[in-house]
Amino acid sequence: MPQTAGGAMLAGAQQRLVDELRRQGIDDERVLAVIAKVPRHEFVDDALKSRAYENNALPIGHAQTISQPLVVAMMTMALLRGRKPQRVLEVGTGSGYQTAILAELVPTVFTVERIKPLSEQARRRLAALRYRNVHFGYADGINGWLPYAPYDGILVTAAADAVPPALISQLAPGGRLVIPVGMQGAQSLRLIERRGAGIHEQDLGRVSFVPLLPGKH
Ligand code: SAH
Repeated sequence: MPQTAGGAMLAGAQQRLVDELRRQGIDDERVLAVIAKVPRHEFVDDALKSRAYENNALPIGHAQTISQPLVVAMMTMALLRGRKPQRVLEVGTGSGYQTAILAELVPTVFTVERIKPLSEQARRRLAALRYRNVHFGYADGINGWLPYAPYDGILVTAAADAVPPALISQLAPGGRLVIPVGMQGAQSLRLIERRGAGIHEQDLGRVSFVPLLPGKH
């Protein structure tokens, strides 16, 4: 298949994905515009490129997955709704796809990953795609990323048994944490807001993520 025909097919598939997300209830035009722009096929292996615009999680090696586009859109929308966060931390860089989506929408993005080859590959990908507002860390994000805290938003792309206290403490006042919580098969997405001395928590529905694991690998 000639390169151009392949490219045109991918562009068509990308637009159909945006249409599907709209049908599934994603109504934030800023989020839909970046899903239409960021080339998800650059974040998966060659063998999976033709499937990059299916609304599915896909394997990225090391027993990890690139998140499902609907879930990326939901989490991003929850983080941004009614807000303009300036500094956002992502825990779980993985392929770097969610990182790129955030980098399109937020002035400064910090992202940490516990598997070194994934962190390095994502750093190279985002550099090749000319993102200059992302800081990459090879670290266990269960502890957040203290050197750059506090954050206006923290988005966690792996499921925790319980909300790690460090993530709450690294939220700026009024900051938001979006995190899947619970065991495999029974996870829900939580939106947690720091309000004064207290926190406010909202359940955004069922999700399925790989587990948030301790330590570096
Ligand atoms: N946002 C990524 C999702 C990758 S899957 C993407 O769209 O591609 C979740 C990622 O979280 C995996 O790469 C996994 O290694 C990472 N992860 C799990 N526990 C972690 C921890 N404690 N600290 C940092 N990263 C972690």
